[in-house]
Amino acid sequence: MLNRLVIVGGGTAGWMTASYFKAAFGDRIDITLVESGNVGAVGVGEATFSDIRHFFEFLGLKEKDWMPACNATYKLAVRFENWREKGHSFYHPFEQMRSVNGFPLTDWWLREGPTDRFDRDCFVMPSIIDAGLSPRNLDGTLIDQPFVEGADEMQGLTMSEHQGKTQFPYAYQFEAALLAKYLTKYSVERGVTHITDDVQKVNLDERGWISGVTTAEHGDITGDLFVDCTGFRALLMNKALEVPFVSYADTLPNDSAVALQVPQDMKARGILPCTTATAQDAGWIWTIPLMGRIGTGYVYAKDYLSPEEAERTLREFVGPAAADAEANHIRMRIGRSENSWVNNCVAIGLSSGFVEPLESTGIFFIHHAIEQLAKNFPDDSWNPVQRKLYNDSIAHVMDGVREFLVLHYVAAKRDDTQYWRDAKTRRIPDGLAERIETWKTQLPDTETVFPYYHGLPPYSYMCILLGMGGIELKPSPALALSDPGLAQREFAAIRDKTRRLTETLPKAYDYFAAQH
Ligand code: FAD
Repeated sequence: MLNRLVIVGGGTAGWMTASYFKAAFGDRIDITLVESGNVGAVGVGEATFSDIRHFFEFLGLKEKDWMPACNATYKLAVRFENWREKGHSFYHPFEQMRSVNGFPLTDWWLREGPTDRFDRDCFVMPSIIDAGLSPRNLDGTLIDQPFVEGADEMQGLTMSEHQGKTQFPYAYQFEAALLAKYLTKYSVERGVTHITDDVQKVNLDERGWISGVTTAEHGDITGDLFVDCTGFRALLMNKALEVPFVSYADTLPNDSAVALQVPQDMKARGILPCTTATAQDAGWIWTIPLMGRIGTGYVYAKDYLSPEEAERTLREFVGPAAADAEANHIRMRIGRSENSWVNNCVAIGLSSGFVEPLESTGIFFIHHAIEQLAKNFPDDSWNPVQRKLYNDSIAHVMDGVREFLVLHYVAAKRDDTQYWRDAKTRRIPDGLAERIETWKTQLPDTETVFPYYHGLPPYSYMCILLGMGGIELKPSPALALSDPGLAQREFAAIRDKTRRLTETLPKAYDYFAAQH
């Protein structure tokens, strides 16, 4: 029976994989995780997608079990600042789009929105975020339907099976190092063998399959299936197996980041429950509020900006609180492995692929890969169909997310620096130009977005198109002949609900302080 899993790497990818497979297969699987004591984890990766809650549910963990241990907070949206023009902001919230008479509310908004803020008019979340509120009351109850209708009956489904059926109203933000520590304990308590050592050599048999890895102090570690979680190094997949890497650099030029962890008095500062992406001259800065500090970083293209300038800009952006924070400069490898499962080796995490963290998709990629590997877990026959199914789904998810990210830059109205002007003329992924033309006539729907599962529903595309402001959109002609009464009632209902919720929900900080 094939049941010996060897995971190389103990960052977020390694420990998420170890804990998930222990939860899935219990004692029937034998897991060894080896991580270097010398090579650190990447040390970033703090914001997630809302689907991440299925990961914690799968592990049988409740928020109160792990959130305080990881200084975690809720993320209700990505807030984009200065992408259209300086001073403008909009939200891409975790909130399903309402529809009226078969047309999305945003279509009605294009016809006659109550204000010029599509996000505040069509969704409830933006006003809750602006007010710094928690989506849960102090007694733990969640804001009311329709956000989570049917969510409970769908436990146990994979993320792709969930899509379109529910939209949970928030994701998490957490300290990546603390989460890895938490999952280490979880995994080891359930029988995962944890070895701290350097892998010095990957051993291949005569067929080119991995027979084991040689460590500095623990000798050879053998297994059946090897999971490469060694980060951008991709020690097993790209180095030992020499699997080609497909770069996205021609469509997504940001290849560098500088990150800071800045201690803050969050009580005094308050928590804006979202991840903010603030456009800069040659990229954008993320701001992620956690309990006790913010995580922040400048993602940029080194063709347009030097690391020194990036760091200086970031420190100025954060202000005096950043003075003592140590800068972490990171070179990002943007793209994906041509295949992420080759022979008996699967790459998960940065070793498999990565796109800039504009929509917080790194941990989503990991979660998706783990779910797909569990679903396609091999037996002794090593059926190649399973590898193909797996590789196709990984490639689709990453290619789809790449396309969504490229749309951000193409659709952003901003053109005040060479970086932003070049974003309008750079090559874009095949198919996107045609899709954009379609969306100018009809807002995105399931038929017109990237055709494979990639985690992003059509309403996400609408938010980016409407918020970025650089592509002219028109309401469907049919709406000119339709009675707008129902849509006006929906806008009014959103206003009422927003008023009611902003009067009753607690401050996000107060909610987390009570949890701690
Ligand atoms: P790493 O964290 O790099 O871990 C690699 C592991 O391999 C380490 O444990 C190391 O010790 C081990 N290793 C390496 N070599 C050896 C060896 N020879 N022997 C033994 N062990 C070895 N994702 C999100 O979802 N949200 C975000 O907001 C987000 N922001 C990001 C910002 C930036 C700038 C970057 C670069 C990434 C971001 N990501 C984000 C992605 C996220 O950080 C990663 O997906 C996640 O941390 C997983 O990393 P990893 O475990 O694959 O690799």
